[in-house]
Amino acid sequence: MPEVYNWQLGRKMSYPHEEAHPQWQFAFVFNINRCIACQTCTMACKSTWTFAKGQEYMWWNNVESKPYGGYPQNWDAKLLTMIEKENPEEQVWRTKNKTPENPYGTFRGKTIFEAAEKHVSPDGSKRALGYIPTEQEWQSPNIHEETATGNPRKKDQWGYSAELPEHRTWFFYLQRLCNHCTYPACLAACPRNAIYKRPEDGIVLIDQERCRGYRKCVEACPYKKPMYNSTTRISEKCIACYPRIEGKDPVLSPDATPLETRCMAACVGKIRIQGLVKKTGGKWAKVPENPLHFLVQERKIALPLYPQFGTEPNGYYIPPRWAPRGYLTQMFGPSVEQAIEQYSSPDRELLAVMQLFRASQQIIFKFKIEKGPKVAEIENTLPSGKKKVQEIFNDTVIGYNKLGKEAVRITVEEPTFERSKEHLNSI
Ligand code: SF4
Ligand code: SF4
Ligand code: SF4
Repeated sequence: MPEVYNWQLGRKMSYPHEEAHPQWQFAFVFNINRCIACQTCTMACKSTWTFAKGQEYMWWNNVESKPYGGYPQNWDAKLLTMIEKENPEEQVWRTKNKTPENPYGTFRGKTIFEAAEKHVSPDGSKRALGYIPTEQEWQSPNIHEETATGNPRKKDQWGYSAELPEHRTWFFYLQRLCNHCTYPACLAACPRNAIYKRPEDGIVLIDQERCRGYRKCVEACPYKKPMYNSTTRISEKCIACYPRIEGKDPVLSPDATPLETRCMAACVGKIRIQGLVKKTGGKWAKVPENPLHFLVQERKIALPLYPQFGTEPNGYYIPPRWAPRGYLTQMFGPSVEQAIEQYSSPDRELLAVMQLFRASQQIIFKFKIEKGPKVAEIENTLPSGKKKVQEIFNDTVIGYNKLGKEAVRITVEEPTFERSKEHLNSI
């Protein structure tokens, strides 16, 4: 197999195709700490793209409660177990050699492509370690919602989640859609070459004319995001709302500037920011004033989901502050601790950039901060136990669209309005 460079792993890895990269890459950052699991994102996608016959159990966007929820059920635990069996040597990271080229250190274990190498069949069809979920596993997208201790006891369903005097239970919501990976496993596994990655924006699509429904993509995608439609007998997946990315909405985007996707634009909790990042070769071009570049590359506060799988996913997450670090490290790699420490007491610039989450329907390509007055000073206790004084400034952050026009202007302190007494009960 050819070798490609995976910056999230800090090393080269085997991949069935030669290295090739788009000019721009679709990417997103989710702040897990803010999600309320309202599923508005899920329904925004469903009502736009998957309401036809055969799509009844399809949720291209889903929000699941970790550690026990999953769509399909146990997708991550199952794959982690399979890889561990193939590589009992351990899936470990070496973190002493962090550099800008390998910001998380180096992954020493095996990716899904490397773990599958000895299983490659003569027709080359098995190119990534994976499995096809059962029908039953797809049927309950939100099973074990808000369950902190796993399967509830039959007799006492609700009496067992919180235990006094110590509250040790935890869960968090994980928002998921296709990661439009840099090295997609779905694409690598398709024997019909029906899956392609667009050179203009890195969006991964299934050509519905070429697909014959072999489900190799369903088997290979570690995130289980391609789905089989048993009515049309072909596979489907998230299309990153590409008409919106292309700026084809004549009402919301009269000057054809790219818009955020449906699931991003609908997010009630304001946990999402989505964008396009410029690529130079295999790397992100250095554009420090791009909010995604700032959060992922510069501050490293947003981390990839299961980077060890090796697909270089383009979805990044600010990990939840309250979950056990071992679990989070397995899920987001070895930089979890520093990301949470930073998030627990954000500095002036970070706090301003965080206001851009869900602030505009237009994709923000650049931001600028205008300084405002100091409005508060608070003492935070960080997860490490250190104390830190956080100064809060009412800065204004301005987001610019692709054409360089102002798309949003927002302050750190939310403006409040006092209703005059003659309008006290009116709306
Ligand atoms: S998340 Fe899965 S379906 Fe999406 S690009 Fe990556 S491998 Fe393909
Ligand atoms: S990007 Fe569009 S197609 Fe993909 S999950 Fe979100 S709403 Fe659905
Ligand atoms: S809309 Fe936002 S807050 Fe609601 S479930 Fe989706 S990601 Fe979470």
